[in-house]
Amino acid sequence: MLTARPRGTNDILPREAAHWRAVEAAVHLLCRRFAFGEIRTPLFEYTELFQRGVGEDTDIVEKEMYTFYDRANPPRSLTLRPEGTAAVVRAYLENRLDAGPQPVKLYYVASPMFRYDRPQAGRYRQFHQAGAEVFGAADPAADAEVIALAHGLFTELGLLGIEVRLNSIGCPGCRPAYRERLREYYRPHLAEACPECRRRFERNPLRLIDCKKDACRLLAAGAPPVIASLCPACAEHFTSVQGYLAVLGVPFAVDPGIVRGLDYYTRTVFEVVHGGLGAQSSLCGGGRYDGLVETLGGPPTPAVGFAVGMERLLLTMEKEGVLPPAGEGLDVFVTCAGEAAGTVRRAAFALLARLRAAGLAAEMDLAGRSFKAQMKHAGRLGARFVAIVGEDEVARDVVGLREMAAGTQVEVPAGEVAERVAAALRGATRTGF
Ligand code: AMP
Repeated sequence: MLTARPRGTNDILPREAAHWRAVEAAVHLLCRRFAFGEIRTPLFEYTELFQRGVGEDTDIVEKEMYTFYDRANPPRSLTLRPEGTAAVVRAYLENRLDAGPQPVKLYYVASPMFRYDRPQAGRYRQFHQAGAEVFGAADPAADAEVIALAHGLFTELGLLGIEVRLNSIGCPGCRPAYRERLREYYRPHLAEACPECRRRFERNPLRLIDCKKDACRLLAAGAPPVIASLCPACAEHFTSVQGYLAVLGVPFAVDPGIVRGLDYYTRTVFEVVHGGLGAQSSLCGGGRYDGLVETLGGPPTPAVGFAVGMERLLLTMEKEGVLPPAGEGLDVFVTCAGEAAGTVRRAAFALLARLRAAGLAAEMDLAGRSFKAQMKHAGRLGARFVAIVGEDEVARDVVGLREMAAGTQVEVPAGEVAERVAAALRGATRTGF
C-alpha cells in the first residue's frame, strides 16, 4: 500500500510535466490575447458553496464530493473543489470584483479538481481543469467569445478532430414549460429509464437527457428538442450567438442532446468533443449561468464560462500525435577524471556552478562513477556537450570540450567554456567552436 497512489489519481513525471507546461503556456498565451486575467482559488471551500452552487440533485453533490470536517470548534464542513465555477464566483464576490468595471474576465489553468467517480481511461478522482469565466456581460457576443477561446485553445495546440456542440436550454421564464413537455414525453416511458432518472424525473426532467446509460440515451433521442420551446428573447440570444460564431469563424453544430449536468446553466450550453476519446469524449464543457451569482448571495449578474479537462486534452494530443517535444535536455555534463575528492573535483564543481550561472543546464556525476562510466552516463542523459576536467587540465587551467553529436573535441580555457557552449547552442559556431 505504501507504494500505491490512491485510486483515480496520477503522478505526472518529468517527461509528462514538460507536456503539461506546454499546454499551460498555450492557455496563458491565448487568455492574454483574449484579455482574461488569471485567478487562483483554494483547493477547498465551505461545503455549502458547492451544495448551493453546483446544485443538490447533481451527481457531484449527491455522491462525488470529498467532504470532511476541519478541527475548528465547532467543526466546519469543507469540500475539496469538485469544479471551478462556484469557487470563482465566490472569489468574484468576496473580493468585490463586482463593484469594479464590468465585464470581469477570469481564467484558471491546470487547477486540481476532486470527484469520487468510477475511474477509467480519461476519468479520474483527481483531475485538472483549465477554464475561463466572464462576469457582467449579458451580450451574446460574450458567449461567442468564450466558445471561441475554448475552440482557439484546441486549434492552437494543433488538434484537428474536435467538434463544438451547441444548444440553448432557455431561461427561468421558458424552461418550466419545457420541463412540463419533457415530463409528458417521459411519463409513459418511465419504467424504461434508470432508477436515478426515475427519481429525478419530477424535480429535474432535463437531467434525463444528460444521462449516459444506454436505455436513457435511447429515450433521450426521441425527446422534444428544447430549442422549439425557447421564449422569443432566448431564441434571439441563441441566434445571435450562432451569428457571432460564424463571424469568428468557429465551426459548430447545434445538438439538442447537450444540456450539461450542472444546475446553474441558462441559455447557451456547449461542449467540445473529440472522437478519439471513446466513452469519455467530452474535452470541454461550458455555458451561460445568469442565475448563479445571485444564488450565491451576489447581485443579479449575467455570466458565461467553460472548463477544459487537462488530462483528456493531453490524451487527445497524444492520440493525434501533436504533443510538443518534451523538455530541453542537458546542455553540458561535466566529467571529472582523477581523484574523487581533491582539487580536480573541486575545479569540476566550480565549472559546474559557472555553467549554471551562465544559464546552461549542467550536471555532473554524484555517484562515484569511473571516467568511462561518466561518459556513458552523459550519453544516456542526452547531454549536448561534455566538459572534461582532469589533473592535467586543472594544472593548465583548461577544459576538454566534446560535442557529443559530432564526436569532436577541443581544448578551451576554463574561463571560456560557458561562453563557447552558449555560442555553439545559439548556432553561431556550430562546428569547431
Ligand atoms: P464538467 O466540469 O463536468 O463540465 O467537466 C468539464 C471537463 O472536465 C470535461 O469535459 C472533461 O474534460 C473534464 N472532466 C470532468 N470530469 C473528469 C474526471 N473525473 N476526470 C478527468 N476529466 C474530467
